[in-house]
Amino acid sequence: MKRLPIYETFFSWQGEGCHMGKSAFFIRLFGCPVHCPWCDSAGTWHPGHIPERIEKRTIEELVAEATEQKPQLVIITGGEPCIHDLSGLTDALQNADMTVHLETSGAFPVQGTFDWITVSPKVWKKPIQSCIEQADEFKLIVDSSEAVSLWEQEIGKQFIDRPIWLHPEWSKRADPKILGLINACVKEGKHLYRAGYQLHKLYRVDEEDVRSKPTVNLTENAHR
Ligand code: SF4
Repeated sequence: MKRLPIYETFFSWQGEGCHMGKSAFFIRLFGCPVHCPWCDSAGTWHPGHIPERIEKRTIEELVAEATEQKPQLVIITGGEPCIHDLSGLTDALQNADMTVHLETSGAFPVQGTFDWITVSPKVWKKPIQSCIEQADEFKLIVDSSEAVSLWEQEIGKQFIDRPIWLHPEWSKRADPKILGLINACVKEGKHLYRAGYQLHKLYRVDEEDVRSKPTVNLTENAHR
């Protein structure tokens, strides 16, 4: 029986992107080789923060837990979920009439069938072409004044026909330079830029579910 390493599961709502505000059951897988310096899911990979014991759970257990909540979405995230073969899990969730979303850095091939894919590319491990083509939306974490132009040079032309959410890196969410850059990009209208935010953090909704682990953020304590 196939098992997947699970960091946490919890019922909340999607706080980001085109599906913001929809109820969502999150399945956060363990493991990530991308190693962002501001990672807000450090418990999934950082040697100083990983839990003593990682649960390995069957697909049947995960589907039963997800369906019990009757969420609008099931969101498979990480860590970097695409280091795992997710095809058995996505097939089982979709057979149970669940709408299944993926959140990935795009650096690894997608193994599974998803109703929606959010790619959040990272400079430390760049996205592969197949993931760029499969993405329904992009999410750029804006952590410096070069963050947007860097991606425009790298793969910007391929982003043109899909929304590109610009999120201030959480520890810089009040930084006027970062916010000013996002404001300018959206108003300039060069690509399908949209101003993004992690709205669930303001509501502290993840914390309402006791299954949700307190998040260790590498730059500051935050949640999710
Ligand atoms: S932010 Fe995401 S991609 Fe980056 S290290 Fe953390 S889990 Fe991995």
